[in-house]
Amino acid sequence: MTTYLLKPGELTLKGGNRESFERILKRNLLALLRGSGVSVETANGRFFVHAPEEARSRTEDALDHLLGIAGWAKSRVCGKTPAAVLEACIAEGQALFEAGIRTFKIEARRTDKSFPLDSYGIRREAGAAVLEAVPGLAVDVHKPQRIIDVEIREKAYIYSAAGSSPEGPGGRGRRGLPVGSAGRGLLLLSGGIDSPAAGYLMASRGMKIDAVYFHAYPYTSDEARRKVVSLAGIIGHYALGIRLYIINFTPVQMRIRERAPLEWTTVLLRMAMMDCAERLARSRHDKCLISGESLSQVASQTIENIGCTESRVTLPVLRPLIGIDKEGIIKIAVSIGTYETSILPYQDCCVLFSPLHPILRGSIEEANRLYEKLALEDLIRRALEEAAVEKCGYPEGQAIPGAGSTQSGPGLNVQEGIPPPQWEGRPCQSR
Ligand code: ATP
Ligand code: MG
Repeated sequence: MTTYLLKPGELTLKGGNRESFERILKRNLLALLRGSGVSVETANGRFFVHAPEEARSRTEDALDHLLGIAGWAKSRVCGKTPAAVLEACIAEGQALFEAGIRTFKIEARRTDKSFPLDSYGIRREAGAAVLEAVPGLAVDVHKPQRIIDVEIREKAYIYSAAGSSPEGPGGRGRRGLPVGSAGRGLLLLSGGIDSPAAGYLMASRGMKIDAVYFHAYPYTSDEARRKVVSLAGIIGHYALGIRLYIINFTPVQMRIRERAPLEWTTVLLRMAMMDCAERLARSRHDKCLISGESLSQVASQTIENIGCTESRVTLPVLRPLIGIDKEGIIKIAVSIGTYETSILPYQDCCVLFSPLHPILRGSIEEANRLYEKLALEDLIRRALEEAAVEKCGYPEGQAIPGAGSTQSGPGLNVQEGIPPPQWEGRPCQSR
């Protein structure tokens, strides 16, 4: 049996809400580890996870994906005697030395005041014992490579910050709040770099995520759809599963192309996506829309065009990336494991029209006048009726972590035999 110690992240800051956050965190953990024989114990703001040997790698994978903890560490558990504690510290020090660590310090906490050494005494004696037993290690109280932590509670727990350093995304322990503690939102998920990162960020604020992907079959390929399903699977692994709605927007795009000035097509398409997404969100009781827009990244993301894009919806539109530059967004994408998939070269539905000179600062009045002329009501209603749904990254399907779809929905209701494009699609650099 291996014991892991978890430090809840911001939960400690949440005063009266703390109990309910802890309950959600525990529920999420149990959902991620269902059927694995792992048990979870909570005491005084700490979580202890006891995993049988055969469940170790699954447990560590789950802890690496669990939102709402500041860190986790594999812990040595021993009896509450100074001798047993020093022995465990020496074993930890030896293991650190073998892993290439050269400097350490001891930290100690004692909730059981009947333990014969106080925390200062534990630090002093354990430090001396490790120095003597592991000559290659030196103490560095200011910048140690690793900290050996001793906690004297119901039992004694000894662990080191190797594997528990709370480095945020990419480190072990992802911080944030537990998924399900902050309502539900609908993510507009394309196959790009940005929207998966946006979805992850909102999940890490505790939001339960649904997702919608608009494609333009047959102008966009089946690979493009699979890529988005894969991305939803990766995010779903953190978000305890994502229900991905796949909506064929070809008729809407065609209508826009037929009735709108070319330079307005991208902005109008974004407006139609938001319009459609909001209807879906309301039917799912999602309380907001989430997009991957970042200010001025492309022409459709000037502040004026963003104003047009959201002008027809009343749900809040959350844009967690709005002030982050591309480099910063890529870092997030790399750390959560979506980047490699996002850069696969399949085009999403915007390729159908990508004007060379898109409008840069659209006026909301003009946008709405043009939008109404499109008379999209029936097309959007039908697109929603024909939506396909896939369940992505649900805990039960974690045999291949991050591999995407785990349970298929009804399949795609795409129309076959749509004629080839009447205009040339262009890559979407200038959106
Ligand atoms: P991304 O990298 O997320 O694709 P982007 O930089 O390519 O973003 P745009 O394509 O202008 O930017 O899209 C802005 C946002 O609109 C996206 O982040 C996403 O939230 C949403 N979006 C764009 N295309 C689609 C689509 N085909 N289906 C669902 N949402 C989309
Ligand atoms: Mg995109």
